[in-house]
Amino acid sequence: MPYTYDEQNIFAKILRGEIPNDTVYEDDYALAFRDIQPQAPVHVLVIPKGPYVNHDHFANAATDAEIAGYTRAIGKICEALRIAPGDNGRGYRTIANSGEDGVQEVPHFHTHILAGRMLGRMLK
Ligand code: AMP
Repeated sequence: MPYTYDEQNIFAKILRGEIPNDTVYEDDYALAFRDIQPQAPVHVLVIPKGPYVNHDHFANAATDAEIAGYTRAIGKICEALRIAPGDNGRGYRTIANSGEDGVQEVPHFHTHILAGRMLGRMLK
Protein backbone atom coordinates (compact mmCIF):
# COMPACT_ATOMS: atom_id res chain seq x y z
CA MET A 1 0.00 0.00 0.00
CA PRO A 2 1.49 3.36 -0.92
CA TYR A 3 2.11 5.82 1.88
CA THR A 4 0.14 9.01 2.17
CA TYR A 5 2.18 11.93 3.41
CA ASP A 6 0.47 14.31 5.85
CA GLU A 7 1.48 17.82 4.78
CA GLN A 8 0.32 19.14 8.17
CA ASN A 9 2.73 17.08 10.29
CA ILE A 10 4.94 19.13 12.56
CA PHE A 11 8.18 18.47 10.67
CA ALA A 12 6.53 19.51 7.39
CA LYS A 13 5.65 22.77 9.13
CA ILE A 14 9.23 23.14 10.35
CA LEU A 15 10.49 22.58 6.79
CA ARG A 16 8.13 25.27 5.50
CA GLY A 17 9.39 27.65 8.18
CA GLU A 18 6.00 27.81 9.92
CA ILE A 19 7.39 26.61 13.26
CA PRO A 20 10.72 27.71 14.75
CA ASN A 21 13.43 25.19 15.38
CA ASP A 22 16.98 25.03 16.72
CA THR A 23 18.81 24.22 13.48
CA VAL A 24 22.25 22.63 13.70
CA TYR A 25 22.70 21.78 10.00
CA GLU A 26 20.98 22.32 6.66
CA ASP A 27 21.72 21.56 3.03
CA ASP A 28 19.73 20.70 -0.12
CA TYR A 29 18.75 17.27 1.18
CA ALA A 30 18.50 17.46 4.95
CA LEU A 31 17.61 19.66 7.89
CA ALA A 32 18.84 18.85 11.40
CA PHE A 33 17.55 20.49 14.55
CA ARG A 34 17.61 19.83 18.28
CA ASP A 35 14.84 17.69 19.74
CA ILE A 36 12.42 19.72 21.83
CA GLN A 37 12.49 17.01 24.55
CA PRO A 38 16.12 15.90 24.57
CA GLN A 39 16.90 12.42 25.89
CA ALA A 40 20.65 13.08 26.00
CA PRO A 41 22.98 16.12 26.08
CA VAL A 42 23.07 15.89 22.28
CA HIS A 43 19.71 14.97 20.75
CA VAL A 44 19.35 16.01 17.14
CA LEU A 45 16.70 15.04 14.60
CA VAL A 46 17.76 14.76 10.96
CA ILE A 47 14.99 14.95 8.38
CA PRO A 48 15.07 14.67 4.61
CA LYS A 49 13.57 17.60 2.72
CA GLY A 50 11.34 15.32 0.65
CA PRO A 51 7.89 14.10 1.77
CA TYR A 52 8.70 10.66 3.17
CA VAL A 53 6.71 9.08 5.98
CA ASN A 54 9.27 6.70 7.46
CA HIS A 55 12.50 4.87 6.80
CA ASP A 56 11.25 2.22 4.35
CA HIS A 57 9.22 4.83 2.44
CA PHE A 58 12.35 6.96 2.11
CA ALA A 59 14.55 3.99 1.15
CA ASN A 60 12.06 2.80 -1.50
CA ALA A 61 10.83 6.10 -2.93
CA ALA A 62 13.63 8.65 -2.61
CA THR A 63 16.11 9.24 -5.42
CA ASP A 64 19.67 8.01 -5.13
CA ALA A 65 20.76 11.64 -4.80
CA GLU A 66 18.36 12.19 -1.89
CA ILE A 67 19.52 9.04 -0.14
CA ALA A 68 23.18 9.87 -0.65
CA GLY A 69 22.65 13.49 0.40
CA TYR A 70 20.76 12.53 3.55
CA THR A 71 23.31 9.88 4.55
CA ARG A 72 26.16 12.29 3.91
CA ALA A 73 24.41 14.95 5.99
CA ILE A 74 24.36 12.61 9.00
CA GLY A 75 28.10 12.14 8.64
CA LYS A 76 28.68 15.89 8.45
CA ILE A 77 26.51 16.49 11.50
CA CYS A 78 28.46 13.92 13.54
CA GLU A 79 31.69 15.61 12.51
CA ALA A 80 30.38 19.09 13.26
CA LEU A 81 29.11 18.06 16.70
CA ARG A 82 32.44 16.28 17.38
CA ILE A 83 30.72 13.09 18.48
CA ALA A 84 32.22 10.77 15.85
CA PRO A 85 34.70 8.28 17.32
CA GLY A 86 36.84 8.80 14.22
CA ASP A 87 37.05 12.46 15.17
CA ASN A 88 38.05 11.74 18.79
CA GLY A 89 34.42 11.94 19.87
CA ARG A 90 32.93 9.50 22.37
CA GLY A 91 30.32 8.06 20.02
CA TYR A 92 26.63 8.34 19.43
CA ARG A 93 23.48 6.38 18.56
CA THR A 94 21.16 6.76 15.57
CA ILE A 95 17.52 5.66 15.79
CA ALA A 96 14.74 5.84 13.20
CA ASN A 97 11.36 4.92 14.64
CA SER A 98 8.88 3.74 12.00
CA GLY A 99 5.19 3.05 12.44
CA GLU A 100 3.07 1.97 15.37
CA ASP A 101 5.32 -0.67 16.93
CA GLY A 102 8.32 1.55 16.26
CA VAL A 103 6.50 4.22 18.31
CA GLN A 104 6.85 6.86 15.63
CA GLU A 105 5.10 10.06 16.69
CA VAL A 106 5.82 12.35 13.77
CA PRO A 107 5.03 10.91 10.31
CA HIS A 108 7.94 12.53 8.49
CA PHE A 109 10.99 10.27 8.29
CA HIS A 110 13.65 11.30 10.79
CA THR A 111 16.77 9.91 12.39
CA HIS A 112 17.51 10.67 16.01
CA ILE A 113 21.17 11.27 16.85
CA LEU A 114 21.86 10.81 20.56
CA ALA A 115 25.19 11.50 22.21
CA GLY A 116 26.91 13.11 25.16
CA ARG A 117 26.29 10.43 27.78
CA MET A 118 26.68 6.69 28.15
CA LEU A 119 23.54 5.49 26.40
CA GLY A 120 23.50 1.94 27.74
CA ARG A 121 23.12 -1.27 25.83
CA MET A 122 20.30 -1.92 23.37
CA LEU A 123 19.68 -4.97 21.20
CA LYS A 124 22.52 -7.02 22.68
P1 AMP B 1 9.44 9.83 17.05
O1 AMP B 1 8.78 9.05 18.14
O2 AMP B 1 10.66 9.13 16.54
O3 AMP B 1 8.46 10.21 15.95
O4 AMP B 1 9.97 11.14 17.75
C1 AMP B 1 9.57 12.44 17.40
C2 AMP B 1 10.45 13.39 18.14
O5 AMP B 1 10.15 14.70 17.70
C3 AMP B 1 10.30 13.38 19.66
O6 AMP B 1 11.56 13.07 20.27
C4 AMP B 1 9.84 14.81 19.99
O7 AMP B 1 10.39 15.30 21.20
C5 AMP B 1 10.33 15.57 18.78
N1 AMP B 1 9.61 16.80 18.48
C6 AMP B 1 8.28 16.95 18.37
N2 AMP B 1 7.98 18.22 18.03
C7 AMP B 1 9.16 18.88 17.92
C8 AMP B 1 9.53 20.21 17.60
N3 AMP B 1 8.61 21.14 17.32
N4 AMP B 1 10.84 20.53 17.58
C9 AMP B 1 11.78 19.61 17.86
N5 AMP B 1 11.49 18.34 18.16
C10 AMP B 1 10.20 17.97 18.20
